[in-house]
Amino acid sequence: MNSTLHALPVLRDNVVWIWQRGSDAVVVDPAIAAPVREYLHGLGLTLQAVLQTHHHQDHIGGTLDLLKAWPEAEVVASIDDRDRIPFQTVSVQGGEQITVLGTTVKVIDVAAHTRAHIAFSVSAASDPTIGPVLFCGDTLFAGGCGRLFEGSAADMYIALQRLNAFPADTKVCCAHEYTESNLRWAAQQRPDDSLIAARLNEVQQRRRRGELTLPTTLGLERVSNLFLQAEDAGALAELREHKDAWQG
Ligand SMILES: [Zn+2]
Repeated sequence: MNSTLHALPVLRDNVVWIWQRGSDAVVVDPAIAAPVREYLHGLGLTLQAVLQTHHHQDHIGGTLDLLKAWPEAEVVASIDDRDRIPFQTVSVQGGEQITVLGTTVKVIDVAAHTRAHIAFSVSAASDPTIGPVLFCGDTLFAGGCGRLFEGSAADMYIALQRLNAFPADTKVCCAHEYTESNLRWAAQQRPDDSLIAARLNEVQQRRRRGELTLPTTLGLERVSNLFLQAEDAGALAELREHKDAWQG
Protein backbone atom coordinates (compact mmCIF):
# COMPACT_ATOMS: atom_id res chain seq x y z
CA MET A 1 0.00 0.00 0.00
CA ASN A 2 1.28 3.47 -0.87
CA SER A 3 2.13 6.03 1.77
CA THR A 4 1.98 9.77 1.38
CA LEU A 5 3.50 12.64 3.32
CA HIS A 6 1.69 15.88 3.99
CA ALA A 7 3.19 19.03 5.49
CA LEU A 8 0.67 21.00 7.54
CA PRO A 9 1.80 24.54 8.43
CA VAL A 10 0.50 25.69 11.84
CA LEU A 11 1.11 28.60 14.20
CA ARG A 12 3.70 31.06 12.96
CA ASP A 13 6.24 28.73 11.38
CA ASN A 14 5.69 25.19 12.68
CA VAL A 15 5.22 22.32 10.25
CA VAL A 16 3.35 19.18 11.35
CA TRP A 17 4.15 16.15 9.23
CA ILE A 18 1.34 13.72 8.50
CA TRP A 19 2.25 10.31 7.16
CA GLN A 20 -0.75 8.54 5.67
CA ARG A 21 -1.14 4.94 4.64
CA GLY A 22 -4.59 3.86 3.55
CA SER A 23 -7.00 5.10 6.19
CA ASP A 24 -4.31 5.31 8.88
CA ALA A 25 -2.11 8.24 9.82
CA VAL A 26 0.91 9.10 11.91
CA VAL A 27 1.53 12.67 13.01
CA VAL A 28 4.92 14.11 13.90
CA ASP A 29 5.18 16.89 16.51
CA PRO A 30 1.63 18.28 16.57
CA ALA A 31 2.11 21.81 17.89
CA ILE A 32 -1.66 22.24 18.16
CA ALA A 33 -4.55 19.85 17.66
CA ALA A 34 -7.36 21.60 15.76
CA PRO A 35 -5.92 21.82 12.22
CA VAL A 36 -4.48 18.31 12.52
CA ARG A 37 -7.80 16.91 13.70
CA GLU A 38 -9.62 18.69 10.88
CA TYR A 39 -7.18 17.36 8.32
CA LEU A 40 -7.50 13.77 9.57
CA HIS A 41 -11.27 13.97 9.91
CA GLY A 42 -11.54 15.52 6.45
CA LEU A 43 -9.89 12.47 4.94
CA GLY A 44 -11.56 10.00 7.29
CA LEU A 45 -8.19 8.94 8.73
CA THR A 46 -7.52 7.15 12.01
CA LEU A 47 -4.60 8.45 14.03
CA GLN A 48 -2.41 5.45 14.87
CA ALA A 49 0.58 7.20 16.44
CA VAL A 50 2.15 10.51 17.35
CA LEU A 51 5.93 10.73 17.00
CA GLN A 52 7.54 13.28 19.33
CA THR A 53 11.06 14.50 18.61
CA HIS A 54 11.39 16.53 21.82
CA HIS A 55 9.43 18.11 24.64
CA HIS A 56 9.04 21.74 23.53
CA GLN A 57 5.46 22.98 23.70
CA ASP A 58 5.29 23.82 20.00
CA HIS A 59 5.93 20.11 19.31
CA ILE A 60 3.75 18.39 21.92
CA GLY A 61 1.06 21.04 22.48
CA GLY A 62 -1.62 19.29 20.41
CA THR A 63 -1.00 15.70 21.44
CA LEU A 64 -3.34 15.39 24.44
CA ASP A 65 -6.24 16.87 22.49
CA LEU A 66 -5.58 14.49 19.59
CA LEU A 67 -5.66 11.60 22.08
CA LYS A 68 -9.17 12.69 23.11
CA ALA A 69 -10.31 12.05 19.54
CA TRP A 70 -8.13 8.93 19.05
CA PRO A 71 -7.51 7.44 22.53
CA GLU A 72 -5.94 4.29 21.06
CA ALA A 73 -3.12 6.20 19.34
CA GLU A 74 0.40 5.49 20.58
CA VAL A 75 2.69 8.35 21.59
CA VAL A 76 6.32 7.58 20.76
CA ALA A 77 8.90 9.68 22.62
CA SER A 78 12.33 9.49 24.17
CA ILE A 79 12.55 7.62 27.46
CA ASP A 80 14.79 10.47 28.61
CA ASP A 81 11.81 12.80 28.14
CA ARG A 82 9.42 10.68 30.22
CA ASP A 83 9.12 13.50 32.77
CA ARG A 84 8.59 16.15 30.12
CA ILE A 85 6.39 14.04 27.82
CA PRO A 86 4.56 12.05 30.51
CA PHE A 87 1.81 10.87 28.15
CA GLN A 88 4.25 8.82 26.06
CA THR A 89 3.12 5.21 25.61
CA VAL A 90 6.09 3.89 23.61
CA SER A 91 9.38 4.97 25.19
CA VAL A 92 12.38 4.74 22.89
CA GLN A 93 16.03 5.63 22.66
CA GLY A 94 18.53 6.14 19.88
CA GLY A 95 19.47 3.00 17.97
CA GLU A 96 16.10 1.33 18.48
CA GLN A 97 13.73 0.26 15.75
CA ILE A 98 10.00 0.40 16.11
CA THR A 99 7.13 -0.56 13.82
CA VAL A 100 4.76 2.20 12.76
CA LEU A 101 2.02 1.67 10.15
CA GLY A 102 3.57 -1.76 9.61
CA THR A 103 6.86 -0.10 8.64
CA THR A 104 10.24 -0.16 10.34
CA VAL A 105 11.15 3.23 11.79
CA LYS A 106 14.63 3.85 13.19
CA VAL A 107 15.16 6.09 16.19
CA ILE A 108 18.24 8.32 16.08
CA ASP A 109 19.77 10.04 19.09
CA VAL A 110 20.31 13.67 18.11
CA ALA A 111 20.51 15.26 21.56
CA ALA A 112 21.73 18.87 21.18
CA HIS A 113 18.80 21.30 20.77
CA THR A 114 17.49 19.53 23.88
CA ARG A 115 19.17 16.80 25.91
CA ALA A 116 16.66 14.13 24.85
CA HIS A 117 15.99 15.10 21.22
CA ILE A 118 15.45 12.16 18.88
CA ALA A 119 14.83 11.83 15.14
CA PHE A 120 12.95 9.16 13.20
CA SER A 121 13.92 7.65 9.85
CA VAL A 122 12.15 5.47 7.31
CA SER A 123 14.41 3.88 4.72
CA ALA A 124 13.53 3.35 1.07
CA ALA A 125 13.67 -0.39 1.75
CA SER A 126 11.07 -0.07 4.55
CA ASP A 127 8.70 2.11 2.56
CA PRO A 128 9.73 3.00 -1.00
CA THR A 129 6.74 5.32 -1.42
CA ILE A 130 7.95 7.84 1.18
CA GLY A 131 11.45 6.68 2.12
CA PRO A 132 14.14 7.60 2.56
CA VAL A 133 12.82 10.21 4.95
CA LEU A 134 13.97 11.82 8.19
CA PHE A 135 11.71 13.46 10.76
CA CYS A 136 14.29 15.52 12.58
CA GLY A 137 12.37 18.10 14.63
CA ASP A 138 14.57 21.05 15.59
CA THR A 139 17.95 19.49 14.73
CA LEU A 140 18.60 19.94 11.01
CA PHE A 141 16.68 22.73 9.28
CA ALA A 142 16.70 23.74 5.62
CA GLY A 143 19.76 25.98 5.54
CA GLY A 144 20.30 25.84 9.30
CA CYS A 145 20.20 23.88 12.54
CA GLY A 146 18.43 24.13 15.88
CA ARG A 147 19.51 26.40 18.70
CA LEU A 148 21.53 24.90 21.53
CA PHE A 149 19.23 25.01 24.57
CA GLU A 150 20.51 22.00 26.48
CA GLY A 151 23.39 20.60 24.44
CA SER A 152 26.75 21.85 23.21
CA ALA A 153 28.06 22.64 19.74
CA ALA A 154 29.91 19.33 19.96
CA ASP A 155 26.59 17.56 20.56
CA MET A 156 25.04 19.29 17.53
CA TYR A 157 28.06 18.44 15.39
CA ILE A 158 27.63 14.75 16.27
CA ALA A 159 23.86 14.93 15.71
CA LEU A 160 24.24 16.52 12.26
CA GLN A 161 26.90 14.02 11.23
CA ARG A 162 24.59 11.21 12.31
CA LEU A 163 21.82 12.58 10.08
CA ASN A 164 24.30 13.26 7.29
CA ALA A 165 25.05 9.52 7.10
CA PHE A 166 21.72 8.95 5.31
CA PRO A 167 21.48 8.91 1.49
CA ALA A 168 21.52 12.16 -0.49
CA ASP A 169 17.92 11.73 -1.65
CA THR A 170 16.64 11.52 1.95
CA LYS A 171 13.72 13.89 2.46
CA VAL A 172 14.45 16.09 5.47
CA CYS A 173 11.18 16.80 7.28
CA CYS A 174 12.06 19.40 9.89
CA ALA A 175 9.57 21.05 12.21
CA HIS A 176 9.89 24.72 11.22
CA GLU A 177 9.75 26.72 8.00
CA TYR A 178 12.86 28.83 8.66
CA THR A 179 14.46 28.35 5.24
CA GLU A 180 14.35 31.91 3.90
CA SER A 181 15.79 33.46 7.04
CA ASN A 182 18.45 30.76 7.29
CA LEU A 183 19.54 31.26 3.70
CA ARG A 184 19.55 35.08 3.95
CA TRP A 185 21.98 34.67 6.83
CA ALA A 186 24.04 32.08 4.96
CA ALA A 187 24.22 34.35 1.90
CA GLN A 188 25.64 37.13 4.08
CA GLN A 189 28.23 34.75 5.51
CA ARG A 190 29.20 33.43 2.04
CA PRO A 191 28.48 36.27 -0.40
CA ASP A 192 30.44 34.53 -3.19
CA ASP A 193 28.62 31.20 -2.89
CA SER A 194 26.49 30.94 -6.04
CA LEU A 195 24.63 27.81 -4.89
CA ILE A 196 23.44 29.54 -1.72
CA ALA A 197 22.48 32.66 -3.71
CA ALA A 198 20.50 30.58 -6.23
CA ARG A 199 18.78 28.61 -3.51
CA LEU A 200 17.86 31.79 -1.60
CA ASN A 201 16.35 33.23 -4.76
CA GLU A 202 14.27 30.11 -5.39
CA VAL A 203 13.13 29.93 -1.76
CA GLN A 204 12.07 33.58 -1.78
CA GLN A 205 9.97 33.00 -4.90
CA ARG A 206 8.27 30.00 -3.33
CA ARG A 207 7.56 31.89 -0.11
CA ARG A 208 6.09 34.80 -2.12
CA ARG A 209 3.71 32.28 -3.68
CA GLY A 210 2.78 31.18 -0.15
CA GLU A 211 4.38 27.75 -0.53
CA LEU A 212 6.35 25.77 2.01
CA THR A 213 9.98 25.05 1.10
CA LEU A 214 9.95 21.69 2.88
CA PRO A 215 10.87 18.94 2.78
CA THR A 216 14.41 19.66 1.76
CA THR A 217 16.85 16.86 0.91
CA LEU A 218 20.10 15.86 2.51
CA GLY A 219 21.83 16.30 -0.86
CA LEU A 220 20.68 19.92 -1.10
CA GLU A 221 21.71 20.60 2.50
CA ARG A 222 25.17 19.16 1.85
CA VAL A 223 25.86 21.84 -0.75
CA SER A 224 24.14 24.81 0.89
CA ASN A 225 23.86 24.37 4.68
CA LEU A 226 26.84 25.90 6.49
CA PHE A 227 26.10 23.99 9.69
CA LEU A 228 26.11 20.64 7.92
CA GLN A 229 29.35 21.67 6.22
CA ALA A 230 31.07 22.69 9.50
CA GLU A 231 34.39 20.85 9.70
CA ASP A 232 34.33 20.37 13.45
CA ALA A 233 32.52 21.34 16.64
CA GLY A 234 34.55 24.55 16.94
CA ALA A 235 33.50 25.73 13.49
CA LEU A 236 29.89 24.86 14.28
CA ALA A 237 30.06 26.77 17.58
CA GLU A 238 31.26 29.87 15.75
CA LEU A 239 28.49 29.66 13.15
CA ARG A 240 25.90 29.15 15.90
CA GLU A 241 27.16 32.23 17.78
CA HIS A 242 27.03 34.38 14.64
CA LYS A 243 23.54 33.14 13.77
CA ASP A 244 22.19 33.64 17.30
CA ALA A 245 23.48 37.24 17.32
CA TRP A 246 22.18 37.97 13.79
CA GLN A 247 19.30 40.42 13.69
CA GLY A 248 18.15 39.41 10.21
ZN1 LIG B 1 12.42 22.94 20.03
